[in-house]
Amino acid sequence: MQDASTTPPDLKSMVKKLSAGASYRRMLAASEQGRPICVASAAVPVEVLYAMDVYPVFPESLAAIAAGIRKADEFFEAARERGFSNSVCSYTRCGLGIAWTQKSAFGPIPEPDLFITDVSVCCLHVTWWAYLEEHFKKPTFYMDMPATDDPWDPEYVAYYEEQIRAMVGFIEEHTGCRLHMDRLKEAVSNSDLAGLYWKKILELRRHKPSPVSFRNLAGEILPLVTALGEKDCADFYWALYEAYKQQAAQGYSPAQGGERFRLIWNGIPIWHHLQVINYFEEKGANFVWEPYTALSWGNKTPTGRLDPEEPFRTLAQKYTNILTNMPLHRRFQYFDQAIRDYQVDGLVMFSNRSCRPQSIGQDEVVEMVREIHGLPVLIFEGDQADAEGFSLQEAKTRIDGFLEILQSSKRG
Ligand code: SF4
Repeated sequence: MQDASTTPPDLKSMVKKLSAGASYRRMLAASEQGRPICVASAAVPVEVLYAMDVYPVFPESLAAIAAGIRKADEFFEAARERGFSNSVCSYTRCGLGIAWTQKSAFGPIPEPDLFITDVSVCCLHVTWWAYLEEHFKKPTFYMDMPATDDPWDPEYVAYYEEQIRAMVGFIEEHTGCRLHMDRLKEAVSNSDLAGLYWKKILELRRHKPSPVSFRNLAGEILPLVTALGEKDCADFYWALYEAYKQQAAQGYSPAQGGERFRLIWNGIPIWHHLQVINYFEEKGANFVWEPYTALSWGNKTPTGRLDPEEPFRTLAQKYTNILTNMPLHRRFQYFDQAIRDYQVDGLVMFSNRSCRPQSIGQDEVVEMVREIHGLPVLIFEGDQADAEGFSLQEAKTRIDGFLEILQSSKRG
């Protein structure tokens, strides 16, 4: 843990250092320095890449950023020209468009040197990376992870540990980079601290009012994707936690006029219209828990910490814990617990036409929430990155109706 007697770094300068634009510039600098550029999917043990001096680029993150600053259309168009229908996940279409045009929302991107993906988050990653492999004719490593009831079963963890070791072998063979155990331990230690402070931030949301805005968290998650394993990343979450802790002590709430409703958001944020979240906050509603922030990132091990002395084992435990790779009843348990722990008044289910692994089981969760907890639920449809067909006005009208139901159910 960071030394409590030392002052956390200045948050503003950390934000600047780890912004989306800065991560683009870091990628260019890494390429100029001759570091191999690896296109990696979410859930690849990225700590290993940092420890090997391989620079990871994440197409899902590039797609989310492009959508967030409304510069994704050109990439969707590149996918459309190649016959991709809109029913294919928008991250995949946008990510492939970025690869084919070799541009990101911020400008040109360097030619990648290798590719790594895995099957755990969704099987579409395999097809997506196969297109990349075919286009760039560069070596690709596909990590395997069967579906499981128990992600921490020792046999299962041992299997994935072998996958990580095989990934190291693949990188060494194709880049000449070597894994040094001291570097790996350092990367795991930084990752552990980043995950620890992320968890502490999420726990602050149990306060009434919760000082943390989901709108901010959606942006603040970026270093957990693009800089995990680096000291700057750990320092950033430390500073962020301290800032939120102060706000909690002051009774601050992002919900305007005071926190009238505490909500759960289910699904990926709507990157192209994050104003939807702002609108909830303007009306006194605050999101206090989401599976996206709470279950997809951070130290997902049984102890909630990573052990730098057992780096392969600890990373295997962390990365086998993938929500979309587990049976549905696990999701019910998480929702049930969060509703109690965070004293939730209602749920917003984003039925995302792109991401079936995230949207699957929503009806059953809604049923459980209504039956066991009697809470109002708003379901609205859309897409996380493709703004086509989305109407902010329509969303606002539905939110207004939902908030009225929440108000009357509180009175009742
Ligand atoms: S379907 Fe979902 S998990 Fe798969 S690539 Fe798209 S957003 Fe990611």
